[in-house]
Amino acid sequence: MPIYLDGHSTTPLAPESMEAMAPWWHAQAGNPHSPHLRGMLASQAVEGARSDIASLVGADPQELVFTSGATEANNIALRGTALAALEAGIDRREIVVSAIEHKSVLASAGSLRSAGFRIIEAPVDVNGVIDIPALERLVSDRTLLVSVMAVNNEVGSIQPLADVIRVSRAARALVHVDAAQAVGKLALDCAEFDLASLSSHKMYGPMGIGALFVSAASQLRPLPVLFGGSQEAGIRPGTLPTPLIVGFGMAAKVSRTRLGADAAHSRNLSVLFLEELRSRQVQFVESVFEQNRVPGSLSLRFPGNDAMSIISRSGDRIAISEGSACTSGQITASYVLLRMGFTQKEASETVRLYFSRYNSEADATEAAVVLSEIVGR
Ligand code: PMP
Repeated sequence: MPIYLDGHSTTPLAPESMEAMAPWWHAQAGNPHSPHLRGMLASQAVEGARSDIASLVGADPQELVFTSGATEANNIALRGTALAALEAGIDRREIVVSAIEHKSVLASAGSLRSAGFRIIEAPVDVNGVIDIPALERLVSDRTLLVSVMAVNNEVGSIQPLADVIRVSRAARALVHVDAAQAVGKLALDCAEFDLASLSSHKMYGPMGIGALFVSAASQLRPLPVLFGGSQEAGIRPGTLPTPLIVGFGMAAKVSRTRLGADAAHSRNLSVLFLEELRSRQVQFVESVFEQNRVPGSLSLRFPGNDAMSIISRSGDRIAISEGSACTSGQITASYVLLRMGFTQKEASETVRLYFSRYNSEADATEAAVVLSEIVGR
């Protein structure tokens, strides 16, 4: 199998999660909302996992609402909050988002235009970091919500959330953080936010599960975007998937003990990989300064080489992506790179890689060898 370096789009499942999930598919299966013993056992497992995830992100367990992933959490955060504001008669009609948010934030926000909201995009600099003075000019007493991601999924840039919070609070606006790419990679404390989105499959948990943090202290609770039963405090109806939640909880538990070690490991592999490329005289440009990016994440431009061609020519030996996996396959260049000031050509020459917990030094060296053979000097 090719060496897997596409952890921005999904991380491999932790063996601990796989083991923890196993009994809940069959031997211990039971609907966590059922009144019988098996239901109660499932419910206890769900609540245990909720506590483990809450501990990782500095939340109270009751502040977490399970969803199918960060896409759904982002939809509830944006649409649910806007609808709650309309219902409560709050007359703030502007939502400010960074220009490089994930599509699930940009599209959720965009969908609110027809409900009378104005969506304002805050620019980012060449390093993919939100421009705080610009944000200060855009956030006002008309702003209902400011939504800024913790870490960008294409270039790995870390956003200055303390400044985002300061600016938002000064205008009494709510703050939502899409933390999908940060949880398990950086220490994160949700206590400062009104809302935050988490995704299990970006932190070595299973796909198909995530959570929305809804602060107990927030002035406004989002309305549901799906309708049905009263599960998850009425914010997200539907039967909870016990195995997935148990796997997500175990991933959080493991991440909590390994946060520092994982970050150091990922960083070391990316440094080794870059040294190996340099020693082979490969020409490349890093899209984001080391101090601005999450450990292990690399966005690299190979001048004169088309990213799609690099990916297809290296595909049997390494698995990497161009731009965002969600938009790959399309001919259009990454909007994230374009909004960072890249030309179309520069964006089309850029690939992303992530060195995860499960990559080895041999993987990093081999990846550099493969790329050096493809892109030349
Ligand atoms: N936000 C960010 C920053 C992401 O990277 C992703 C996944 N690419 C999502 C949201 C969507 O997450 P999920 O796959 O859990 O729906």
